[in-house]
Amino acid sequence: MFESIPAAPADPILGLADLYKSDLRPNKINLGIGVYKNETGHTPVMVSVKKAEQQLLETETSKNYLSIEGYTAYAQASQRLLFGAGNPILETQCLNTAQTPGGTGALRVAADFLAQHTTAKRIWVSNPSWPNHHNIFTASGLDVATYTYYQPETHTLDFTAMLNALESAEAGDVVLLHGCCHNPTGIDPTLEQWQQLSELMLRKSLLPLFDFAYQGLGQGLDDDAQGLRLFAQSHQEFIVCSSYSKNFGLYNERAGAFTLKTTTPQAGSAAFSQVKAVIRANYSNPPSHGASIVTTILHDDTLRAIWEQELLEVRQRIQRMRQLFVQTLQEKGAIQDFSFINKQNGMFSYSGLTKEQVTRLREEFAIYAVASGRINIAGMTPENMSRLCESIINVTR
Ligand code: PMP
Repeated sequence: MFESIPAAPADPILGLADLYKSDLRPNKINLGIGVYKNETGHTPVMVSVKKAEQQLLETETSKNYLSIEGYTAYAQASQRLLFGAGNPILETQCLNTAQTPGGTGALRVAADFLAQHTTAKRIWVSNPSWPNHHNIFTASGLDVATYTYYQPETHTLDFTAMLNALESAEAGDVVLLHGCCHNPTGIDPTLEQWQQLSELMLRKSLLPLFDFAYQGLGQGLDDDAQGLRLFAQSHQEFIVCSSYSKNFGLYNERAGAFTLKTTTPQAGSAAFSQVKAVIRANYSNPPSHGASIVTTILHDDTLRAIWEQELLEVRQRIQRMRQLFVQTLQEKGAIQDFSFINKQNGMFSYSGLTKEQVTRLREEFAIYAVASGRINIAGMTPENMSRLCESIINVTR
């Protein structure tokens, strides 16, 4: 049965990580995979996370299964982080949250739930987007349509084209929105644009599905949630898939959350029972450790303060590297204007580099970026900046 199976195409981003690993050139630079790295090129465990783990080591008494939806305290902390502590939505009893294996797990639960238990047939995803969105939604049997998002000449959001595309969506379609730090472009809607999107989607009865994987990596924990919180004021029904991989550095612990907002508590109970049935058939119940860490930190004032400071440093380092990158390119005589990179949010930037230029960077200079031209700003350090910028100038000449 297994003899005639053709190999699956390599994952465009994970395949790059393998190539990077096997590259023996000592001065190689990795701007590929979307993982935060500090000034020394290391992906550290946060101090707040280590401290929470120490507490857990001493207090944990059992490895018994969790419930299908995971820890209640984790769900509450997740809702507070998404909507802000004083938000009246938290008291409506119309929110139900399940702890999931990462943001990917949350997205798959959302996709299966939508495909199996709602009338939704189609989901609109930005073009470009994180490539796994297509995999996840098609695996669940949803049709994936795309809306234009990016204007390559001006390196900005093509908002008119985005609105036009969404005008052709039909009532009951789902629209996937990146909560902040759009992957791969780094370009987010302004508050006014969020408002317009919210109005369009209400008028056309489109269901918002927020993918919120980078809260705190853009402008701050609250600022990054402005789009979601604005939608939450007028939309009765929506879904949020959030992740703690990036903002807690818990990549391999798989901590995420699926949050369902319904019009009434009664509808919430029934719909969430179906969400639990979806989870039961997928992975039965979630892993505990990452979620315990997040819960411990978010419920402890001291640990939370340490974590927020660490997250601030992550954000500031990314912003510093953006500025240094633009400045160094300019100083070294780049012909193109790269200042748009300073206006983008989060770890990623659409650099405008072509596929050919990305290939040359890899082959001639041991610099790894995604073929689309997406670069991970966190792969930059003050030490590698000169060589990086010289190489980019070399291939863009
Ligand atoms: N959504 C987006 C836009 C992402 O970039 C990522 C991570 N690359 C995820 C979801 C999934 O995150 P996780 O690792 O928590 O599954």
